[in-house]
Amino acid sequence: MTASTPPAPVLVLFRDDFRLSDNPALHAACASGQPVLCAFVQDDACMPQGVIGWWLGQAAAALADALSQQGGVLLTPHGETLPVVLDLAKAAGVSDVFWNRRYDPVGKERDTALKAALTERGVTVHSLSARLLHEPWTVRTGAGQPYRIFTAWWRAARELGEPGRPLPAPQEIRFAPVPRGFKKDLAPGALLTPALPDDATQAAQYWPCSEEQARTILEDFLDDTLAHYDTDRDRPDREGTSGLSPYLRAGLISARQIWQAARQAEARSGDHLNTEKFLSELGWRDFGWMQLFYEPDIPTRNLRSEFDQMPWENDAEAFTAWTEGRTGYPLVDAGMRELRATGTMHNRVRMVVASFLTKHLLTDWRKGERWFYERLVDADPALNAMNWQWCAGTGIDASPWFRIFNPVGQSEKFDPSGAYIRTWVPELAGLPDKLIHTPWKVDAALSRSLRFVPGKTYPHPIVDLKQARAIALERYRTLKKDD
Ligand code: FAD
Repeated sequence: MTASTPPAPVLVLFRDDFRLSDNPALHAACASGQPVLCAFVQDDACMPQGVIGWWLGQAAAALADALSQQGGVLLTPHGETLPVVLDLAKAAGVSDVFWNRRYDPVGKERDTALKAALTERGVTVHSLSARLLHEPWTVRTGAGQPYRIFTAWWRAARELGEPGRPLPAPQEIRFAPVPRGFKKDLAPGALLTPALPDDATQAAQYWPCSEEQARTILEDFLDDTLAHYDTDRDRPDREGTSGLSPYLRAGLISARQIWQAARQAEARSGDHLNTEKFLSELGWRDFGWMQLFYEPDIPTRNLRSEFDQMPWENDAEAFTAWTEGRTGYPLVDAGMRELRATGTMHNRVRMVVASFLTKHLLTDWRKGERWFYERLVDADPALNAMNWQWCAGTGIDASPWFRIFNPVGQSEKFDPSGAYIRTWVPELAGLPDKLIHTPWKVDAALSRSLRFVPGKTYPHPIVDLKQARAIALERYRTLKKDD
């Protein structure tokens, strides 16, 4: 390069990592000293539908805002990743492309092809580690195999030491000019921000979207909630968890940032127990992604193949009642209505509704997985699939099939006064605490005084728990005989 030749620009591709801080791809691009182009390719094959589609659109818009505050832009070309990036790289004359690695099957396939094509054209590709605490292939058994049991995997992961320290946001980004032919991607409306489903539009009010917001949520959690995490995380009637999953999903915050902040909070408070419990949940996140990395079809294939013979009922009416929160079991209905209204559901309740759908209603877990994927604001291909397979007993290190949650017992234990149920099932709000879990037991006298009529004001239970449980266990026994 001579004094008169301006340095070639470098390109950063953003995908599910819509943040400036602890973004290794952006950091390395800035450190190159060359001018930087930032792009988010709107590739239909990588853009989910439903609430998560809306959320990722919001996150991309938030990143575009953050870049514009620094005097730059986020280019948002639409189309298949490979031709779009090749065009952009050529038009801008970039020497290097930087991205943070993806581990889902479509993302991996897209990135492998892109890397080969760019390299062939003399462009250097840098793929970096950003999404997880540890890369999926780094935690392996002594025999070099992926782990199948979480506790063993977690022990091995911990032996690798603390995850890497998060990187600061670049102090200054020297932006490259937008190449001709790509200016149209800056026009208003160029970034497609999918709408929420018609019956879920109120979810928007729950999810302010920015990197700062994610940091504030983390700080509030560490100050106010972490100290009770071990006991309160199972209580849907309390603010017992971080609420960070949507922010992690869109990469508005990284797992390493959360890890480091939790460790700093632990150093201030000396609270080892709660911190360890919380960090192990981040471990489950890595474990889920490790599963998807090695078993790319976990969203659709029973990891325990004997379940391929499972005679599911798949009753369409029962499934609709479940999705609409009309099963007659208050905790299940509260969870399903919370999901529709807000795009999230408490983890304990996710487990209860998943167990109810698969075991009491004998519905294939994949139907529930799809419904969650459309409706969750944190819908994550790895975590959703792993958790559904866990609940259904079809996964690795899963809850066994014969562990069937009783939705009434779960409700009495984890929402004892019914505060959570009252929030999401308002027609039950007037019932006394002891009847809120079993509204079908309201007698005639109380029914008159409360103007609550079981079967009318609120549905009768759609299945008898004892009977449904016995059938589920019987089906499973048959299944094992057939195997
Ligand atoms: P916290 O308790 O504060 O945990 C911190 C972080 O740890 C979470 O943000 C999440 O990244 C991770 N984590 C917590 N619990 C789990 C878990 N069981 N498995 C893996 N990682 C975990 N989580 C998703 O992010 N996306 C999904 O699509 C998803 N689908 C689920 C489906 C079912 C049937 C079940 C039972 C659970 C599912 N989960 C999913 C896991 C869990 O319910 C959510 O991560 C959690 O409720 C998020 O709330 P939080 O951020 O307050 O969690």
